Amino acid sequence: AAKARGKGCFQIFENRMHELLLDKLDAEGRLRDAVHRGELRLHLQPVVALPGRAVGGVEALVRWQDPERGLQQPGAFIPLAEETGLIAEIDRWVLFEACMTVRRWQELDPAAAPAWVSVNLSAVELEVPDLTDRVAYALSTTGLSPQCLVLELTETVLMRDVAVTSARLEELRELGVKIAIDDFGTGYSSLGYLRDIPVDVLKVDRSFITDIVGNPRQQELVSAVIQLGHTLGLKVVVEGIETEDQLTLLTAIGCRYAQGYYLGRPEPVAALIERTTTGSET
Ligand code: C2E
Ligand code: MG
Ligand code: MG
Ligand code: MG
Repeated sequence: AAKARGKGCFQIFENRMHELLLDKLDAEGRLRDAVHRGELRLHLQPVVALPGRAVGGVEALVRWQDPERGLQQPGAFIPLAEETGLIAEIDRWVLFEACMTVRRWQELDPAAAPAWVSVNLSAVELEVPDLTDRVAYALSTTGLSPQCLVLELTETVLMRDVAVTSARLEELRELGVKIAIDDFGTGYSSLGYLRDIPVDVLKVDRSFITDIVGNPRQQELVSAVIQLGHTLGLKVVVEGIETEDQLTLLTAIGCRYAQGYYLGRPEPVAALIERTTTGSET
């Protein structure tokens, strides 16, 4: 009897595995089509300068308008895209779209438009040999000035192979674009790579901000990271500001650039332009 039950369990397990595999193939197919059918959407989140809260730049964040399931956040499809290699196409689309959108905005309203746009690059991108050419192409085709483009990479990516990484980043910086370390503090942070790898911007991960109010130790830590960045001549952006208290505190400890729901959520460019314009009139 036990044997029969065992066999039954295995059958269920096998059926389930099969279902999961089919689900995945299906999701992969739909994601592949999404790029070609124009279902990707660009959202932009403001990065503000403190204490005045003027918009300094914007971060490009991709969404997928899935006809079956509605608007999908990156967490729902980026992992699959990375696993299947579709990420290269997605990142290419975002890069181009972001450069074009911000360039047009700058032409439309030079006073209110953001001074820079930052684009996230997936880990695999640094290994793509034509990354620099692709960035150069996006800039020359859209007319965006290289100084207006920031490429965001996570620490884990930067630490993979320091020699290859710094050579690649040096190429990119020769174009005039800036490099940011995203989610700073969550990877295997090492001072070594701040020394060896050419970067311009540190983005302090929001996990350091979540519980910062009423937590002196956390405040000291964030304050020290901000000072370190400034001492090295880097721009430091703090991510994940959700409350007035967090903003007040970070302003007090010398934070000059911040990003977070409290300051502005990621939105389609049209909504953001409207808000920025209205904001500057009031
Ligand atoms: P990230 O680059 O660290 O982007 C910041 C994420 O934090 C965004 O999530 C943003 O919506 C969210 N966020 C901003 N302010 C707050 C806040 O105050 N509170 C909270 N709880 N969250 C906040 P999103 O858009 O879901 O993106 C998640 C991640 O997906 C990004 O993290 C980035 O690593 C990746 N991603 C997004 N777009 C792209 C892309 O075009 N290419 C690649 N390769 N990755 C992307
Ligand atoms: Mg980012
Ligand atoms: Mg980030
Ligand atoms: Mg993050």
